[in-house]
Amino acid sequence: MNSGIVTAAYIVAAILFILSLAGLSKQETAGRGNLFGMVGMGIAIIATILGRDVSSYGLLIVMMLIGGAIGAYLSSRVEMTQMPELVAILHSFVGLAAVLVGFASYLDPDNNLVGTAHTIHSVEVYLGILIGALTFTGSVVAWGKLNGKIGSAPLMLPHRHLLNAGIGVVCLIILFIFLGAGKGFGATLLVIMTLLAFAFGIHMVMAIGGADMPVVISMLNSYSGWAAAATGFMLSNDLLIVTGALVGSSGAILSYIMCRAMNRKFFSVIMGGFGTPSGVASAADGEQGEAVAISADEVAQLVGDASEVVIVPGYGMAVAHAQHPVSELTKQLRDKGVNVRFAIHPVAGRMPGHMNVLLAEANVPYDIVLEMDEINDELGDVDVVIVIGANDIVNPSALDDPGSPIAGMPVLEVWKADTVIVSKRGMATGYAGVENPLFFRENTRMLFGDAKDSVNEILKAV
Ligand code: NDP
Repeated sequence: MNSGIVTAAYIVAAILFILSLAGLSKQETAGRGNLFGMVGMGIAIIATILGRDVSSYGLLIVMMLIGGAIGAYLSSRVEMTQMPELVAILHSFVGLAAVLVGFASYLDPDNNLVGTAHTIHSVEVYLGILIGALTFTGSVVAWGKLNGKIGSAPLMLPHRHLLNAGIGVVCLIILFIFLGAGKGFGATLLVIMTLLAFAFGIHMVMAIGGADMPVVISMLNSYSGWAAAATGFMLSNDLLIVTGALVGSSGAILSYIMCRAMNRKFFSVIMGGFGTPSGVASAADGEQGEAVAISADEVAQLVGDASEVVIVPGYGMAVAHAQHPVSELTKQLRDKGVNVRFAIHPVAGRMPGHMNVLLAEANVPYDIVLEMDEINDELGDVDVVIVIGANDIVNPSALDDPGSPIAGMPVLEVWKADTVIVSKRGMATGYAGVENPLFFRENTRMLFGDAKDSVNEILKAV
């Protein structure tokens, strides 16, 4: 394909990616946004394959078939609850690809750049591998933390800030030596830097506690974008640069939004140490009093008599696949004249927008799904709040207990309602591993059991 057509195709793909991001910013247009993204990616892949840089079609087709088959198989099996892990592991692939492309580009025998062009290319290779390597190991650790293979408590190594700063300084020194080195020694320096960046990625995410993981996910999303952009520079592929920059900057904006939602400073999250440091006592730990159980029939009675009901979904709703019965319950109550609304915390579930996606899938009307800031002040006027599989996002100790690992994080102040029903299986803590005094409040009733079964029972009784 002639290079003019390839460039035109790249421009169309880039515009579709921008339209995709714009579409994804609202629930009503998210489906369309996804479609734009898929069409854009299709055009990008075809234009790249037919471009002048590709010659070994046989190898390319075999690799695409293998990769495509693995991707299709895994994504057809992935549960909605495993989506965050899938996203994390996909980020790691972008990072690893950047590392491999960096080495291939450096060792390419056809690479005869000299002078300034050589220096610029070497810096691109170095930065691409650096960002790619820390994105790779950081994402693998995030994947492990999200699926519970690695504990959510932050790893607090002694002098950890010094360790991070030390790795940064050593990587900078290696860069200067690398710029003046020949190919053989240069490759050795690249390997040393890659190992350091691998260690940095592991340490960076290990040091971050459970409650701060949302910021890490969006931050790694951003890093994977910058790693792709760096790869685009190495390969002189304009579309990869643009796409990487779009992903990188939207991930950075998302990290900022997450930090604001959690009342955290970005740098303190990255420095690590929030979450659940072992051995640090919080007022929420220890004897709490007794939790009072309630039956599904009693809950049906309560919500049937109420005029204002707010439902707070959390990770447990996703685990239990309870969104469809929740949607049905909402419909029945609304038909009876009860004003039912949903309150969504920005970090509910395990990925940004997790609850919105589930509720949209279950056809809950968008206009009754409200963000935390839109509804928090009104919770005092609500008759019944039903918390479905949520825990950290409704934990009052975030506001009352300065010693709590989640202190300062804004939460849904559900305890202000007349009655709070909490549907969960037992008294387990949430992802942040913090005890929740809400369960022992006077106006709280615990509806024990799997959320889907519990909501189905309420439905039957209603
Ligand atoms: P939590 O993880 O705090 O709590 C979920 C609760 O659901 C658990 O206490 C569990 O209790 C209950 N549960 C689990 N399975 C079921 C089931 N089948 N039926 C009923 N209940 C169930 O969830 P939240 O949504 O409240 O908070 C999200 C947490 O995840 C925050 O700490 C957030 O920082 C973190 N996080 C969020 C990310 C994001 O981007 N949104 C990313 C990474 C982390 P029990 O076992 O007793 O049933």
